[in-house]
Amino acid sequence: MNDPDRRQFLQRTGRTTCAVALGGTGIVLGRRACSEDAWAIVPNKCVNIRLGVTGSEQVCDVCATDCVLPLSAVRAVNDHAECGRCCICPAYYDVRGPMGPDGLPAKKLCPRDAIVRTPIGEVDPYDPLNNFYEYTIDESKCNGCGRCVMECKDPAGLGSIRLEVRYDLCVCCNQCSIAQHCPEEAYCRIGPQPAPARTLEGGHV
Ligand code: SF4
Ligand code: SF4
Ligand code: SF4
Repeated sequence: MNDPDRRQFLQRTGRTTCAVALGGTGIVLGRRACSEDAWAIVPNKCVNIRLGVTGSEQVCDVCATDCVLPLSAVRAVNDHAECGRCCICPAYYDVRGPMGPDGLPAKKLCPRDAIVRTPIGEVDPYDPLNNFYEYTIDESKCNGCGRCVMECKDPAGLGSIRLEVRYDLCVCCNQCSIAQHCPEEAYCRIGPQPAPARTLEGGHV
């Protein structure tokens, strides 16, 4: 097999493997402008997303540290339909740290303060645990470090936060450095993806 044939064969094989791995995982793929093959994260392989593993000690931060971009093309995304809107969200608060005088954890979990907490309805100051909140990722700050994703799992979280490649940011490197260093082969090629719609604030809709 000559070089061009071999490259095409490998690309086709890689796409098929990823399509099979992504099938049935419920992944919502982001969208990209690049007409070439895109990179995607397979949720049930990724150390941070897959269920059954919690604990900040085991977080994989390769998606945050190994992208060639100054701020990685990977972001955390909260699926609001799945989120429990918990008052003490283990992705928002450092639930292993000390408690504050208000009965809530004293520190936030995200090292980049990239999670926005917005009360839903009126806040009852006398019954904090009976209040509910919307949690949104500020994508201008998030670098996809995965800490919040790792914490949003049983028993305290519902798994509503995952990591996604933002296809309008990713420059579609031929040899993605995240894919080369991913410990679980969870970063792989899929077909071309269209450009995303963006809000005025720069987030995705
Ligand atoms: S292909 Fe390049 S820009 Fe895209 S996630 Fe990988 S390293 Fe980052
Ligand atoms: S992935 Fe990391 S930087 Fe992004 S919101 Fe979660 S904890 Fe913050
Ligand atoms: S490098 Fe692989 S295992 Fe680590 S966070 Fe990224 S996709 Fe998940």
